[in-house]
Amino acid sequence: MRYSDHAEPVLTLTSGPVNAYPDVLRGLGRTVLYDYDPAFQAFYEKVVDKTRRAMRLSTRPVILHGEPVLGLEAAAASLITPGDTVLNLASGVYGKGFGYWAKRYSPNLLEIETAYNEAIDPQAVRDMLREHPEVSVVSVCHHDTPSGTINPIDEIGALVSAHGAYLIVDAVSSFGGMKTHPEDCKADLYVTGPNKCLGAPPGLTMMGVSPRAWDKMKANPAAPRASMLSILDWEQAWSRAEPFPFTPSVAEMNGLDVALDLYLGEGPEAVWARHALTAKATRAGIRAMGLSLWAAREAIASPTTTAVRTPDGIDEAALRRAVRARYGVVFSSGRSETLGKLTRIGHMGPTAQPIYAVAALAALGGALRAEGYEADVGAAVAAAMAVSDADA
Ligand SMILES: *Cc1c(COP(=O)(O)O)cnc(C)c1O
Repeated sequence: MRYSDHAEPVLTLTSGPVNAYPDVLRGLGRTVLYDYDPAFQAFYEKVVDKTRRAMRLSTRPVILHGEPVLGLEAAAASLITPGDTVLNLASGVYGKGFGYWAKRYSPNLLEIETAYNEAIDPQAVRDMLREHPEVSVVSVCHHDTPSGTINPIDEIGALVSAHGAYLIVDAVSSFGGMKTHPEDCKADLYVTGPNKCLGAPPGLTMMGVSPRAWDKMKANPAAPRASMLSILDWEQAWSRAEPFPFTPSVAEMNGLDVALDLYLGEGPEAVWARHALTAKATRAGIRAMGLSLWAAREAIASPTTTAVRTPDGIDEAALRRAVRARYGVVFSSGRSETLGKLTRIGHMGPTAQPIYAVAALAALGGALRAEGYEADVGAAVAAAMAVSDADA
């Protein structure tokens, strides 16, 4: 085989972490300032404000110094109390997983669970809230990445807000790749990070926090304080007047600063458009190749990841091994329930370009042929090119 597992691949087309933009990599190489130096404190305040602009928030976001699982777990630990009734919406592995965290902090957990190729139906949320007036916190994953499917969080958020409950949103793999912002979905805690669609490495959480979420967390005596899991400790971190609770991830902040400049400089609408176009070209190619999408309907297929159903008789892990060995291309597998059933092609940050759809389809199709499946690679490439060229 041409590409050894011991050498770097040619293309990483995963659903995160993704290759960072070259400018971000250069940003990571900036001087590592002392966190008490006034220059760093001014820089930190500036990056928090840039994050606020990118997230289109009217209040200051919080940056936590660990990849977004830290933010998600911290959200559960800080906001949810034993007196809360949590309604967790699970259309996939991440949505389901949040329920396990929620359960640690409150025994009262309700769940709406769909098939993992489906999306949450807002009508089901409306009915559940009507039947259970006691629901005080709702949690939802926007893009359940291991399924490549999108939940209608703006509609869900409007229902939750009318009910008066708090809303926790995992938007880790959608923010920056499509139109989604904390205030669009009326989220109280909105968790995302730089390592998916913003094209920076994993290492930080960016979190939108509503004023009433601050109040609820402060009133919760069990909310983590003086802890790595704390959100409260970081409320004033943006301010030069306050010392940091512990050393922030200085290099990661340097990378985030550049990633935000790239995002705001290119224009969010333009960034979302190239994610959508790349995903559309990929989906057209998948169908032309004779394969099926994992998503039950095109309307819920993510613009940042395309999940492809593994054809009968094909071993998914062997398929990805063949893709890497023959072409030096890396895709993502499924996770837990979706493991072995689908292959994921990521379109995130720097890889959200239609030409990568063409490369992904050629690599997937070529490896399928090598595994004995009659994939029409030519038709797939032509279909993807047609989508891309129609937009040019
Ligand atoms: C990537 C991602 C996270 C962060 O989790 P990891 O498993 O550590 O990568 C959280 N939620 C979603 C939806 C993600 O895609």
